[in-house]
Amino acid sequence: MRQNKTEYDDPMHDTPTATDLPTLHDLCSVKFDNSFVRELPGDPETRNVPRAVSNACYTRVNPTPVQSPQLLAWSQSVADLLGVSQPESPTGRVAELLGGKITLPGMQPYAARYGGHQFGHWAGQLGDGRAITLGEILGPDYKRLELQLKGAGRTPYSRTADGRAVLRSSVREFLCSESMHHLGVPTTRALSLVATGESVWRDMFYDGNPQAEMGAIVCRVSPSFVRFGNFEILAAQGELDTLKNLADYVIKEHFTDLGAPSPIVYARWFEEICRRTATLIAHWMRVGFVHGVMNTDNMSILGLTIDYGPYGWLEGFDLEWTPNTTDAQGRRYCFGKQPEIAQWNLTRLAAALSPLIDDRSLLEQGLAVFNDTFQTTWRGMLADKLGLNSLDHEGDETLLSELFDLLQQSEIDMTIFFRSLMNIPLTTADNSLESSSLSGLLRHAFYTEEGFVHSQTSLNKWLHRYIARIHLDMEAPTLTSFEGTRLQRMSRSNPKYVLRNYLAQQAIEGLQQGDSSFMTRLIEVLRRPYDEQPSHNDLASLRPEWARNKPGCSALSCSS
Ligand code: AMP
Ligand code: MG
Repeated sequence: MRQNKTEYDDPMHDTPTATDLPTLHDLCSVKFDNSFVRELPGDPETRNVPRAVSNACYTRVNPTPVQSPQLLAWSQSVADLLGVSQPESPTGRVAELLGGKITLPGMQPYAARYGGHQFGHWAGQLGDGRAITLGEILGPDYKRLELQLKGAGRTPYSRTADGRAVLRSSVREFLCSESMHHLGVPTTRALSLVATGESVWRDMFYDGNPQAEMGAIVCRVSPSFVRFGNFEILAAQGELDTLKNLADYVIKEHFTDLGAPSPIVYARWFEEICRRTATLIAHWMRVGFVHGVMNTDNMSILGLTIDYGPYGWLEGFDLEWTPNTTDAQGRRYCFGKQPEIAQWNLTRLAAALSPLIDDRSLLEQGLAVFNDTFQTTWRGMLADKLGLNSLDHEGDETLLSELFDLLQQSEIDMTIFFRSLMNIPLTTADNSLESSSLSGLLRHAFYTEEGFVHSQTSLNKWLHRYIARIHLDMEAPTLTSFEGTRLQRMSRSNPKYVLRNYLAQQAIEGLQQGDSSFMTRLIEVLRRPYDEQPSHNDLASLRPEWARNKPGCSALSCSS
């Protein structure tokens, strides 16, 4: 049964209810149906050496077997989508499969070919350098899902890298994709986390001192892992027949409502990608998620969050914050720029699709849809976060701009601040509650006493304005029923629990010591991020001081 019904539904289907639970099978006995390989041109060459590939959407390549795969984490809510049961042994055949040690009949593993714009510049061919798709499964509800191992070994797209992933990055991908799903944010999912039993060498600080780290593989699950970059490489190389093939395939498989591919359907499809991307980014802004590397090869054609690398969660609200050390100078991918960058990326996709859509104005229309959808969705979400019916009243613009000025002014925890707005009593509009005690209700969202003192006056002023604004919405017969509905809406848009950067780090350090207890608790709590769960209050608290500048907690490099 879904426990955390939120207003924000993921385009990926949900956990079945108790009454319609299908029989679950062992993953090793499921049937594969590989439409991507069947429908699209593959690389005729199969040599697994770094090379430029042409006229193909993928190259067939098997995972490189690892020494001793061991299952460290499993998501049954993803397994339910696939109709598979939790394996009994952490080291049995399922672990071997998910660790890339064995493949099964029916699988047709491949690495996808794509290119991308990285940090604003065309980077040429990139491709799945360490991700290998095993195959596709039709789940109990006949929805197609792709299983992909990240960290499964070298492919022709690995360039000079090793094709592997370290435990810390795999834990972060597993935890974050599952947590995003339960927050109602569109995302690829994670079925499993498997330790490989092998070391991976990484220069985490880029200081010339590589260290041996534990290797691990995540099995990601999504209807598709196609990115903007899959189209960009085909357009850049002038492979226009293959470009059309791929567009037709994606529309037929994943955008069935649009009808059979045709020039007008291509334009509607682009518009829909713009719409989904806008909704996605609005969700990121709502929960304080910063992707960290919004290159066009990390943008899903389905509008899902994809490729969890040096991402981070806002602690102190800061539009300029980025977790990615590689981006510390330019801050191209900081929190506040995510909408603008998404639109820039969509413009690159529009250019790649232009051979299919003659009429430029249709592409421009799509980009305009991005803007409209983002503005409307984000505003609607802000209204929900503030517990208001809408933000269309006179004065709402000022209410918002003062709020953002306030949040930016001192170090204020975004998640705690919004969640705590639920505690503001409505009866203080007449100033019956002393001003100082009103702002005091939010003291615990501030990281420092100085910050609180500095912002207290503006916070009080804003809170009085806010309370007066809420009263304008009051239509329900009694204050109690009005407040009940309002608080319910707020509690569903303002999570109490998010994957704070230091929490992920604690889970990683636990696993590195062989202790999975913190990871297990975190996974469980993050499955119900909007519920109070008072016995886990410690997971909803301010980032502790020790984590302020600790690598992995405050800043991350791409070296994963
Ligand atoms: P990312 O920044 O993680 O999205 O990766 C950008 C490109 O580098 C993609 O083509 C990845 O497949 C590739 N890549 C990243 N890490 C590795 C690795 N360890 N081995 C091979 N390719 C990698
Ligand atoms: Mg990537």
